[in-house]
Amino acid sequence: MKKLIMIKYGELTTKKANRNVFVNLLNKNIKNMLRDYDIVIHKDRVRMYIEVLDGKFDEVVEQLKKVFGLHGIVICYQVHTNVDTIQAEVLNLLAGTSYQTFKVCTKRADKRFMIPSMEFNHMIGGHVLRHTNLKVDVHHPDVYIHIEIRQEGTFLYTNEISGAGGYPVGIQGKGLLMLSGGIDSPVAGYLALKRGVDLECLYFESLPHTSLEARNKVLELANIINEYSGNIKVHIASFTNIQEAIYKTADDTYIITIMRRMMYRIAEKLAQKRKCKIIINGESIGQVASQTLDSMAVINQVTNMPVIRPVACLDKLEIIELSKKIGTYETSILPFEDCCTIFLPKHPVIHPTLEKCLEMESRFDYDKLIDECINNIITIENFKQNDFSDFL
Ligand code: ATP
Ligand code: MG
Repeated sequence: MKKLIMIKYGELTTKKANRNVFVNLLNKNIKNMLRDYDIVIHKDRVRMYIEVLDGKFDEVVEQLKKVFGLHGIVICYQVHTNVDTIQAEVLNLLAGTSYQTFKVCTKRADKRFMIPSMEFNHMIGGHVLRHTNLKVDVHHPDVYIHIEIRQEGTFLYTNEISGAGGYPVGIQGKGLLMLSGGIDSPVAGYLALKRGVDLECLYFESLPHTSLEARNKVLELANIINEYSGNIKVHIASFTNIQEAIYKTADDTYIITIMRRMMYRIAEKLAQKRKCKIIINGESIGQVASQTLDSMAVINQVTNMPVIRPVACLDKLEIIELSKKIGTYETSILPFEDCCTIFLPKHPVIHPTLEKCLEMESRFDYDKLIDECINNIITIENFKQNDFSDFL
């Protein structure tokens, strides 16, 4: 008997034409996620089986729960296709459990096995009834006993663990996440990863007005969401000169609006340079003055690139709940100031007009400053735990 982890692709199997691309990428992502473990992966069109050679079964399962594109994780046992063996192993599977009701589900993929599925369900069910105290419940059993009879052997398993769902990271190409030290943007990044978008992150800092601790916090957040990707890069952009120019020239109430237009301009340029197809951020409708629909329209006006806002329609409490679930919350609430929160005007405009923005922006040569900002970006690749200590 061989103990294996069986992976169910779920949603992927409906994408018939692209199935190979999906499965190969999922396979690559799983290998990457499990690179510290001694494993062997066998894959076919509908399933993937993972052998864990170093015995760290539970750890591997925990890692797999973070892989997007994977809908079910099943601990399963491969046995010889032989009625006596299957009967004995089914009893082993149930030994020491506290289930009270069961249902047998046989799938006979290998038609060389002569007993039809229904008949085999009854046969195994009868065996379980005779040798345990369990009862049959065909509607809401405590445990399903799955028996898959395949060419390479018979696979036995009980209830499955839910996978993370979504699509394999990277299947959609890359997006540029505007990553701040707040609660919202790491959650936005997580949700984009879940839909198969690989991420590069852009963080704006305003040294010396913002601190290296603030930068470190953002890197830590990137590190946490990288657990769902393994492939994240972070670009650190110095926003000081632009921010100071805005403070000198713009009307107080428009400072944030214009700052955000500059951020979008830089994000678009960097996204093009890095072959990212979209910009992603953590804006949420109505959360602050710069996120009213009027503000969003005026800010969005500087780019033609799609801007995806995964948390746009979530309440703050819903976003907080997600951030706790993915493990970013505790880091996000560390009290270091971000460039959007320093020198915050008392009454930021909530219905800005494009004309006013354009007029205020004509007061300084922002193109030059934007180019300078892009040219001086620091990029952190091969993101791993504690790598970034060198950058402080
Ligand atoms: P909070 O959780 O406190 O709302 P936030 O990061 O969402 O934090 P906002 O002022 O609401 O802060 O900013 C909206 C979005 O703009 C952020 O979610 C993020 O995508 C982007 N953004 C804000 N500040 C920065 C920054 N310093 N660097 C990169 N992106 C930023
Ligand atoms: Mg926010």
